[in-house]
Amino acid sequence: MYFRMAKRLLFNTNKRLLWNLAYKAGFKGIRAVQKHKKRLKRGDFFPPFLYISIINSCNLRCQGCWVDVAAKQEKIDVGKMNDIIGQAKEMGNSFFGLLGGEPFLHKEILQILEDNRDVYFQIFTNGHFITPEVAKELNRLGNATPLISVEGTEIVSNERRGKLQVLNDTMEGLHNCLDAGLLTGVCTSVCQTNYEDLVNDAWIDRLIELGVMYGWFHIYRPVGPDACPELALTPEQQYNVRKFVVETRSRKPIVMIDAYHDGDGNALCPAATGFTHHISPWGDIEPCPIIQFSKESIYDDRPLKEVFNESEFLTDFRKVAAESTRGCIILERPDLLKDLAERHGAKDTTIRGEAVQELDDMEIRPSQYNPGKEVPEKNLAYRLAKKFWFNDYGAYSKHFQADNWIDTRTENPQKPG
Ligand code: SF4
Repeated sequence: MYFRMAKRLLFNTNKRLLWNLAYKAGFKGIRAVQKHKKRLKRGDFFPPFLYISIINSCNLRCQGCWVDVAAKQEKIDVGKMNDIIGQAKEMGNSFFGLLGGEPFLHKEILQILEDNRDVYFQIFTNGHFITPEVAKELNRLGNATPLISVEGTEIVSNERRGKLQVLNDTMEGLHNCLDAGLLTGVCTSVCQTNYEDLVNDAWIDRLIELGVMYGWFHIYRPVGPDACPELALTPEQQYNVRKFVVETRSRKPIVMIDAYHDGDGNALCPAATGFTHHISPWGDIEPCPIIQFSKESIYDDRPLKEVFNESEFLTDFRKVAAESTRGCIILERPDLLKDLAERHGAKDTTIRGEAVQELDDMEIRPSQYNPGKEVPEKNLAYRLAKKFWFNDYGAYSKHFQADNWIDTRTENPQKPG
């Protein structure tokens, strides 16, 4: 497998783009994590990886989307983006996730990449606006990888994403990226309607054949105004996805990303560990994209360094999340998130203004934390990379209290109280 992967990288990629990825995301990304670890030792905090939703608008209407995509358009302009990225660079950061809405609806997205050629971006997109010209420009810029979401077969994609022809348009964008030689990924939010079709070797082989370099299976999280809880996976299915990802990493020449497990297969939440936090299109600084509460904004007068370091809300979020579960707090304990938001007087950052009600309405559900069924990495490269650079950074040994955890895998688990 290592040989086939090396062969793909050597013969099927643009070497300039590969070098940019290896240097700006790989080498400098590792350096950012090392700096993060040093900060934690000193008692300081700044996340080494920021997710930034640059615009709220989107051409699709996906089931379970939590963003107010139909609200008046709001975006972070290029000047503010350069400011945020510049401040993060000063902290040693080099890798940024750009989300939306649909980020390619932001007219200045290519300018943002152009102005920040020394760092690397991963763009979470439906691919519909990646024309051959846009893909060519992304190639010239050389500092971004498109991560294109494919949510299933034609019929499932139309249903999941609220429009006809979605898959065709997505595949066209994907082909444009691949034709332009971009290092391209495909992600899927795995749910009941695409689990059978996409979590299998045939799909992975097709991605490899197309020239896709990496895949990412997210687990569908029923949140937001139209949560569609019937799409959520069972604990057994989540376990099977994890096993499939670990197997694929050891058998197939494609990189498989997952952000929810360490090298030994222990679950973690990247917001609870402090690996990442999120900035919304309105500039609100949130624990993660689906937790829509905030006390701070990028438009505050203080520098970001101080905002992150001094945020009592984010510090308390990380503590509460890590104390209660190694999995996803919003799925397992929405009640604790509501308490946290109320205790800190955190603002509901949605336009619909119903984030508290949505937490109240949520049933508690199992997430990636599945004690006793950990699946350790089989591939040595992933295992070592996770051991040194992607783990819990001590968050759970400091906070997690097993007695606090409610076994969400049972039928009808109940919120305490
Ligand atoms: S709270 Fe849940 S959705 Fe947010 S980063 Fe953690 S595990 Fe992911």
